[in-house]
Amino acid sequence: MTKKDILFRFDKPRDQQKQLLEDVFECVSTGKNLIAHAPTGLGKSDASISPALSHTLSTDKKIFFLTPKISQHEIAVEVVHGLNEKHSLSIKAADLVGRKYMCVDPILSDADFSGFYEICARRRKREECHYYNNARGNTKQEKERAKIHSEQILSSLPDSCSHHELRDACLSYESGGKERIPCAYELSLELAKEADIIIADYFHLMNPHIRKIMLSRLKLKPEDLVLIVDEAHNVPERVRSMLGSTLSLYSIEQSINELEKIARPDLIKKLRLVRKQLASLAKKKLSLKLRESLVAPSEFLVDEIDELAEELYESAVNYIESSGKGRSFQMQVSNFLKKWINPEKDSVRIIHSKHSKNISLMVKALDPGIATKPLFGEAYSSILMSGTLLPTKMYADLLGFDDSRTVHREFSSPFPSDRRLNLVATNATTKYGERSEQEYETIASTIQSIVSGVPGNTAVFFPSFALLNSVQAFLDENLSRPILAQTGNMNSRQTSALLKKFRAAGNGFGSVLLAVSQGSFAEGIDYVGEQLLCSIIVGIPLQEMNLELKCLIDHYQEKFARGWHYAYLYPAISRAIQASGRVIRKESDEGVAVFLDKRYTWSNYRNCFPKDFRAVTTDEPGRYTKLFFDQS
Ligand code: SF4
Repeated sequence: MTKKDILFRFDKPRDQQKQLLEDVFECVSTGKNLIAHAPTGLGKSDASISPALSHTLSTDKKIFFLTPKISQHEIAVEVVHGLNEKHSLSIKAADLVGRKYMCVDPILSDADFSGFYEICARRRKREECHYYNNARGNTKQEKERAKIHSEQILSSLPDSCSHHELRDACLSYESGGKERIPCAYELSLELAKEADIIIADYFHLMNPHIRKIMLSRLKLKPEDLVLIVDEAHNVPERVRSMLGSTLSLYSIEQSINELEKIARPDLIKKLRLVRKQLASLAKKKLSLKLRESLVAPSEFLVDEIDELAEELYESAVNYIESSGKGRSFQMQVSNFLKKWINPEKDSVRIIHSKHSKNISLMVKALDPGIATKPLFGEAYSSILMSGTLLPTKMYADLLGFDDSRTVHREFSSPFPSDRRLNLVATNATTKYGERSEQEYETIASTIQSIVSGVPGNTAVFFPSFALLNSVQAFLDENLSRPILAQTGNMNSRQTSALLKKFRAAGNGFGSVLLAVSQGSFAEGIDYVGEQLLCSIIVGIPLQEMNLELKCLIDHYQEKFARGWHYAYLYPAISRAIQASGRVIRKESDEGVAVFLDKRYTWSNYRNCFPKDFRAVTTDEPGRYTKLFFDQS
């Protein structure tokens, strides 16, 4: 197989896409890694899956396509389907999601996420889930029958099928009668064993514990893997949060409430002692001025902590099953206690309190490489890609890539530059020392002037809710369009409703969405065509300085001599670019992105942007915006 024989589902790749495709092919066929900054619109899924499969189909390597969200699996399934159609192939793809999403038990599939896995694990262990038994069998005869039923279902499916199709096929399985319905997750693992490509979530391989189980179940070794990691800018933070844990006074109190309901005075007594200990630790370490502090392991020593963690775990599973609530605070406490005594290497323990009733104790992992280095170090080849993956060296460092076999690439945006106008507006700043009511008013009037030139929807992204509220106070009176504002306590249903309303407003006169840069409206969401014409990034979305961030800066400084940049500066610019990128999601889209802060002209910030980033610097962003839309 040479580069010119690479499989592709369309007539031919576009220029930049072709380059990425060839880079992926080169790396996968020579056992190297690729870290590619590849902006939206480049067609990354096709450009990575097609060349990787072109190589691995004739080898014993298996591709894992890893995404941060289930919704991103669909495109990968489509790519494989398209390759099969175009080239008359039968490439097998398995779409792997968590057990919770595949569960065919009508009661359990409605359970809350946090409690589901424990109940499922216990039912399997006790042989109490007949769906699981149907899929795997216990006796020799049952195993044989399960195998036949599984094969019947799997052979009825297309080579590249989504997890929905597989689950539906299990649910509508008639042959053995309704009582023979098998666990769809177990079948998806059977499918994965035979698949050429497995489309899965980050946690399937990046959580060391789950990775071990997964690879053993699929009879794979790390060196058998070709990994393609989509939206890879998420990986460091996602992995760090996977490795940490938090205990709050609130979760202890809620656990005690649960234990009162199931009459467990023994555990109530122990948890009251834990609560007392946490409160006295807060008293010792914190004051009105000092709201967070590092804690040594010996400063929070719960008697027989292992035993308590196990007792709470068992009690939590019982509680979840008997209460029908689907979740338990006892599980959170149990998980924390386990993490407290056995944290990841390079973790810190922090006590934090906003006020006397809001105390929490955290175990924070500082080094994502602890979990990812063994994976990327041993995998045959790994491809990391994202529209905001700069500098690529930072991701190589943080995730533990081997320099000697890693290729770095920075692609430019494939969209015509005349369809997007970038403005750096110098009339205001959110710099801490310059914040004032007057400054907020200036920001509001600048937003007002920009919005009046936009013939549709505008989204304004703020570094924090506090700033959003301060500026909104000046916007309400003056803005001619309806305002839709994100709030700090929105649940996912409210978030979806707000998003729907905003998107719908794009068909009419337009509205103004106020949201935070580090939130669900700024990343991982597509606003197509008229749904978003202008994006304003107010200030630089730097993370609020706290003890964890200081520890992270120190850790990255010690390890890579780039603490400030890796922990603070680059992630902020990445957030700004992500938020601004919501404007153009397709080649036919057009729009304006405004970076509203004079600091974007400073070289330390400006140098963090991609090489092909071009912007007009102005103190009249409203005029430029109007001109752009008048001419388009
Ligand atoms: S084993 Fe399968 S069917 Fe049974 S509870 Fe778990 S996910 Fe649901």
